[in-house]
Amino acid sequence: MARGVTPRRPSRSGRHERARGLNHTLPSGKRLASAAKKTGASKASPASVIAKSASDYSTSPERVAEILQRLEATYPGVTCALRHKSAWELLVATILSAQCTDVRVNLVTPELFKKYPTVQDLAAATPEQIEPDIRSTGFFRNKSKSLVRAARRLVSDFGGEVPRDMDQLLSLPGVARKTANVVLGTWFRQAVGVVVDTHVTRIARRLELTREASAPKIEQDLMRVIPQRKWIDFAHQLIWHGRALCYARKPKCSECPLENICHAADKTWSTVPIHKSARP
Ligand code: SF4
Repeated sequence: MARGVTPRRPSRSGRHERARGLNHTLPSGKRLASAAKKTGASKASPASVIAKSASDYSTSPERVAEILQRLEATYPGVTCALRHKSAWELLVATILSAQCTDVRVNLVTPELFKKYPTVQDLAAATPEQIEPDIRSTGFFRNKSKSLVRAARRLVSDFGGEVPRDMDQLLSLPGVARKTANVVLGTWFRQAVGVVVDTHVTRIARRLELTREASAPKIEQDLMRVIPQRKWIDFAHQLIWHGRALCYARKPKCSECPLENICHAADKTWSTVPIHKSARP
């Protein structure tokens, strides 16, 4: 490269593109109808026009399909990173993964499953007995209680088998929708809901697929905009994307396959206008 010549770096605001207001063109070349046409600019206030237009754009079927297609191309065939050989092991690992990394859980579970190979073995233990085995995953007192109680409930009410039903899973101690969705989606391949963890929350908000903050509401939004056949893979792909590029701090936007359809306010690189409300 000639001396004194530096590559042009897109501005964070996207203003270098001479963006004024909304400029939404999908890679297919299809430009979304402007809010003015849809709502009648003379009647609506500028703020409401922008809000309506941004919302129409962000969850439009064309944009969602583009996001799904790029995620599939980038993360084909990805699945849950928690190591497991059965629905029971996956349930245990998912309970342990709360506020803990999958890497840490994968270090702990082999020894735990060696010591307590079956549901019945764990049901016969006391929480105090397994505390030392799971201590490094954090919140070990609560987690050990949940594991033992869940094992006992499975033995007493479900013949020692993990049920493949959302309501029955939710009746187990320590099991909320995220855990139930992981087990149903990953082990039973049943798309009953969308797994919403910290990665899914952050990226879905950056991509403006939701503006909600609570996991139940985010899940409802995602179930509305993502086709059901993609619920399982979509969550896995967002989780992998969160680990690979879309970090909580300093996401690697310049390497991201979604860059030119992502308008997140905290992007580190942008070739498109940013949307101030698109925040993690
Ligand atoms: S462009 Fe940046 S913020 Fe947007 S999805 Fe990609 S890594 Fe995340």
